[in-house]
Amino acid sequence: MTKTIYLDYNSTTPVDPAVLNEMLPFFTQYFGNAASKTHKYGWEASHAVEQARIRVASMINAEPDEIIFTSGSTESINIALNGLAGIYGHKRKTIITAPTEHKAILDTCDMLAGKGYQIRYLSIDREGNIDLNELDELLNEGVLSVCLMMANNETGVIHPAAEIGKRCHDKNVFFFTDATQAAGKLHIDVQDLKADLLCISSHKIYGPKGSGALYIRRKNPAVKLSPYITGSGHEKGLRSGTLNVPAIVGIGMACELSTSLFWEETARISKYRTTLEQLIEREVSISINGNMRSRLCNTSNLCFNGIEAARLIKVLPELAFSTGSACSSALPEPSHVLKSMGLTDNEVYSSVRFSIGRFTTENEIATSAELISNAVKGLMKEADI
Ligand code: PLP
Repeated sequence: MTKTIYLDYNSTTPVDPAVLNEMLPFFTQYFGNAASKTHKYGWEASHAVEQARIRVASMINAEPDEIIFTSGSTESINIALNGLAGIYGHKRKTIITAPTEHKAILDTCDMLAGKGYQIRYLSIDREGNIDLNELDELLNEGVLSVCLMMANNETGVIHPAAEIGKRCHDKNVFFFTDATQAAGKLHIDVQDLKADLLCISSHKIYGPKGSGALYIRRKNPAVKLSPYITGSGHEKGLRSGTLNVPAIVGIGMACELSTSLFWEETARISKYRTTLEQLIEREVSISINGNMRSRLCNTSNLCFNGIEAARLIKVLPELAFSTGSACSSALPEPSHVLKSMGLTDNEVYSSVRFSIGRFTTENEIATSAELISNAVKGLMKEADI
């Protein structure tokens, strides 16, 4: 049997062999507890953790002591929002976000709403954009945080994060941005963005699963969070528990690679994504969901009008792709992102996401385009379109 072509990099990525190599000795040879202060095993583990902290910080232009390690972006989001609420929530009770955010943000906001917080959702246009004027109108000193992702996981649409950050900064409101999908695909500089909190996830950038990092601004302003997991005081007392050293080494190396490969990789992937869309467009009619002028280089959310996405996925076992967020694909609901953009139910159910990455080849793009076009033609015939 031939290999299934992987076109679902926004869902997760394979671990890069260089990342794995870096991690392996930390399972056996350097297995120490990073909190052991009395011997070499502990010192080695602790040194590796601090090296990883430097690598993560340097990818986003932060200081190493502004980074804490977590199990991934879902956890970072919980730490950030609950942590802000724990410290500043008695005075500030509003969170501004958007309906196109990841469920990790939306569900955490729902939970805070249950505790008396007011959640304001910005409107989203047909292309997935927010309106900065609407944000301006909502910003005031009663706002705890603005939570808007840098780029969307389903459509790849990029928010004007630096513009958002500047507005928040001017109004003394915290800006938390979920950079899970932006990492490795967009240049990230927490100073330019004026971000106060930012999260990334290792498994989206060719590192291991169950590993993430949260940036917490240390000055201008210094952001304080209440502890999320109490215990022995690891990670600045915010998230106690023995550090997962191999996973931390993994995210560190993943960030280092993403930084060094950035320009070549984003240019290549962008070219492949364009080719994929053009080759399909030549054969069948499609519409592209999301702002085409401001989209991640690797993401292609396509609507094949009249074709049921679930059927398309079924007739294409040679390809691994999805209808959108893997994190919610266990639910039978239509994509909340596309629905918020105003797509009709039919359009939503006819849309699929292709997301390519580091190991995608030119041949795979050509083969995929041919398979997709033929499958769509077959289904159109079947449906008499
Ligand atoms: N935020 C975005 C934009 C995502 O795409 C994802 C995962 O798909 C998450 C958060 C959750 O990340 P993790 O899997 O690290 O918990």
